[in-house]
Amino acid sequence: MNLSRSLAITLLSFSCTTASAQIQGFAPASSAHEAEVEKKFKSIPTPEEERRQHRIFTQEPHIAGSKRNNELAEYIRDEWKKQGLEDVVIRRYDVYGTNPKSASLEMVAPKHYQALLREIPINGDDDSKNPAITAAWLGMSISGEVTAPLVYAHSGNPEDYDLLRENGISVKGKVVLVRYSNPYSYRGFKALTAQREGAAAILIYSDPQEDGYKKGKVDPDGPWGPEYHIQRGAITYDFMVPGDPLTPGWASVPGAKRIRIEDAVSAPKIMALPLSWHDAKPLLENLGGPAAPADWQGGLGFEYHFGGAQEKVHLKIEMDNGTQPYYVVEGRIRGSELPDEWIVLGNHRDAWVFGAVDPSSGTASMMELTRALGQLKQQGMRPRRTIIVCSWDGEEVGLTGSTEWGEQFADELRSKAVAYINVDEATSGPEFHGQAVASLAPMLEETTRTLDDPSGKSLYDAWKATVAKEREENKSSGPFNSGASNATLADTRIGSGSDHTVFLNFVGMPVIGLGFEGDYGVYHSAYDDFYWMNHFGDPGYRYHTVMSQLWGVTALRLANADLLPFDFAMYASNIRQFVNDLAKQNNLWGQPPSAVQPGEAGHLSKLDLKPALDGIDQFESAGKKLNESLTRKLAQGPIDPKLAATLNHGMMQVERNWLNPDGIPGRPWFKHILYGARFTYAHLELPGLTEAVEAKDWPTAKQQAEILRHALEKNTKLLRDLNESLNSK
Ligand SMILES: [Zn+2]
Repeated sequence: MNLSRSLAITLLSFSCTTASAQIQGFAPASSAHEAEVEKKFKSIPTPEEERRQHRIFTQEPHIAGSKRNNELAEYIRDEWKKQGLEDVVIRRYDVYGTNPKSASLEMVAPKHYQALLREIPINGDDDSKNPAITAAWLGMSISGEVTAPLVYAHSGNPEDYDLLRENGISVKGKVVLVRYSNPYSYRGFKALTAQREGAAAILIYSDPQEDGYKKGKVDPDGPWGPEYHIQRGAITYDFMVPGDPLTPGWASVPGAKRIRIEDAVSAPKIMALPLSWHDAKPLLENLGGPAAPADWQGGLGFEYHFGGAQEKVHLKIEMDNGTQPYYVVEGRIRGSELPDEWIVLGNHRDAWVFGAVDPSSGTASMMELTRALGQLKQQGMRPRRTIIVCSWDGEEVGLTGSTEWGEQFADELRSKAVAYINVDEATSGPEFHGQAVASLAPMLEETTRTLDDPSGKSLYDAWKATVAKEREENKSSGPFNSGASNATLADTRIGSGSDHTVFLNFVGMPVIGLGFEGDYGVYHSAYDDFYWMNHFGDPGYRYHTVMSQLWGVTALRLANADLLPFDFAMYASNIRQFVNDLAKQNNLWGQPPSAVQPGEAGHLSKLDLKPALDGIDQFESAGKKLNESLTRKLAQGPIDPKLAATLNHGMMQVERNWLNPDGIPGRPWFKHILYGARFTYAHLELPGLTEAVEAKDWPTAKQQAEILRHALEKNTKLLRDLNESLNSK
């Protein structure tokens, strides 16, 4: 050991001691105890076990509703029982099925080409030879058959069709060919856009410029997508309402009321199929008509054209839409002192094929997390609050399992739930990304300080470096692209696209999302498999292990805290930033747009946001006062259980108060007034207000601003009452 190293260790242990004496939400004595519990917890997950579990989940394809995926549900149930989890049950939801029977695509003019619609095996990767691998398909495509002209429509976003129109090209009754991400938009949004344009069908392909050889070496030599990789996926319009399309807003338990598929707003009315670039190339190469503009060109090495009059394709898709069961596995460790306060953790189980990254990396991390929780319990270290763990089904098709479960238990969750922590893809590489509602961002950051990143830094320092790099990159792509607020490392702009959606947007629970990311070009393809993970994603399973530790420690802190570690002053400043960004982007302050300081209303031309901004100031000051009182109270030592219950239940209510029971205009299922998602899945802050402002619908905007002001007022009063109950003791 050299001097600098021993010095570093001394400093490190000093900072750890300091940190453990000051864990947010813990009194000194319980802080020390918590540090002991966490140390034990962190020592349990191992890379060997992560890898062993990961192999079990990636052994066979396990699509939602498949026999294998249902067997894995039983496997998880049995493992959890062995590990010591309690009340382990499998919940069944009968949902609208969407499974492929057959699909074929051929170009019939000017040349004949029969699309392969398959992924060929890769030498050295035996899993890629598995006969159970499905052909190309997209969940929720309708069945049908068409022979029609083919048009290239770039990324399939509305502006792309505008450009086609300017060039005199209509897609009505035609088949459109679009690529996945230039720029990225959710494939369901592409399908809806094509449907609105009157297209007969949509083909979505992976251009090598976006996830293939133009990015770097392809599988099996590198992490990027090879010639034959197919990005499967669902096209459900879950931005309207997620879950089973036939039960919007209630659970698909056996016997539940169901609407007709024709009346389901989230059910697409268009045929859709994904393609590898191997299959897209002959189609694109044979398209005539005018040359497409520069930003429509891709990585295939020839000029892309819009399509002329004589290019035709024949497409036939047959789906099986019989009702099928989805299974959610649920287990818990009952809280020793506060069993009716819940920390909920979840990961989806279903995969498009093997799902090594998505979601089995998360599933392996979850299995190691539950093993560690079980061991703690057996050693007498039961959490104070209840920790519930769920293995979701059908996430890949409209976030279905979590949505149905959340809808089924919404009332109970609204009275008992502290927070939801989601891990979908635990790791596709080394860069940590943490998402959280701003009230939990500081506690998440604090937690990362106590963990070691495999790079040798603390997880916190590794995270900080990643965020700094991203902010640098975002600077060049415009002022409104910042993924995170500058006050925190956590990304506080939470869109949709995973299982946190029902908990945040429907139930009103604070959410956290965790994941490591890296170069990943095989998403939703058969090549997202064990070989890929062991060569590129996480060869040593060290990131899987850190994920189990981080996920568990975050849950334990929420479960064991004397006073829940919410920071509402942080939440307030984050909301102010949302309002500020909305105003800037829509030029609501008049020319020139300037940053809004606390309490400064600016020049309001079209919409008076001053009452809302004043409300934010009030909420922030109440949050600051509460933070101070809580810190003071915690420093004084043990807290009267009755007072703690008042404070904790009050703090749990804050997120619920951001819900508007009517939902956002046009999308009643989405009830949160601070968070929503665009149809593209992109994050959308202040969704009702923002959409009204963007549509220049000022009466609705005014109404939405009033709803915001009212919620702020309600939460300010709540925090003031809590502060009073603290100071009167
Ligand atoms: Zn996923």
